Amino acid sequence: LVALDHVDKWFGQLHVLQDINLVIGRGEVVVVIGPSGSGKSTLCRAINRLETIDKGTIALDGQPLPQEGKALAQLRAEVGMVFQSFNLFAHKTILENVMLGPVKVRKQPKADAEKRARELLDRVGVGHQAEKYPAQLSGGQQQRVAIARALAMEPKVMLFDEPTSALDPEMIKEVLDVMVDLARGGMTMVVVTHEMGFARTAGDRVVFMADGRIVEENTPEEFFDNPRSERAKDFLSKIL
Ligand code: ATP
Ligand code: MG
Repeated sequence: LVALDHVDKWFGQLHVLQDINLVIGRGEVVVVIGPSGSGKSTLCRAINRLETIDKGTIALDGQPLPQEGKALAQLRAEVGMVFQSFNLFAHKTILENVMLGPVKVRKQPKADAEKRARELLDRVGVGHQAEKYPAQLSGGQQQRVAIARALAMEPKVMLFDEPTSALDPEMIKEVLDVMVDLARGGMTMVVVTHEMGFARTAGDRVVFMADGRIVEENTPEEFFDNPRSERAKDFLSKIL
């Protein structure tokens, strides 16, 4: 579904993505882990074209990513993204936050968008908060709203960039539970996270990045129990 082929990116002198080759199949859940600065966020941002790349190609459904205009807006709708910070619109209600994309970008009639938004909010467990504003919700609830908002666009793939790392421990599980549920439902997902419980429960594959490269790629079991590279062993010894 998503294919990265010999992708390189520089920030000035810094070679942040180095010859990245990665194929993500439909329904696959790929967990990306690695030390700070290894290029995980840049990789995610490149997949929905929030960052340009300097070499190589990224394709979605066999089509190279569009560079601009309507096609780019369409791509952003097809590639859902959930960040560490929830990025909800503070002056809109939870319901309005989730309806906005479908109405503005997908041109859905308001009534349809509202019905669908309420279903999604129920699904992530915040249906009863629909009329509230983001600041009235806990971090875990806001993050679940952010997930519902991305899902409202009916994305082909969902990218999660450390979705739980800004959350208090007791809220992490409620967000991970929603993500596990999504994974089980067959959503194609790229998840940057150090939550090994999630990787083992829901991950099909772990991609370990260091210094802009994919150093190791394996099943979660193999990766966590028998890391092959020194970089991975070293990294795991610090986070375990
Ligand atoms: P973290 O675990 O801290 O989130 P990461 O693996 O997500 O790290 P990236 O955010 O992708 O890493 O950053 C990779 C490298 O690129 C880092 O050295 C970072 O400082 C650099 N970088 C990221 N964004 C920019 C930018 N807009 N301009 C210049 N350098 C950048
Ligand atoms: Mg990052």
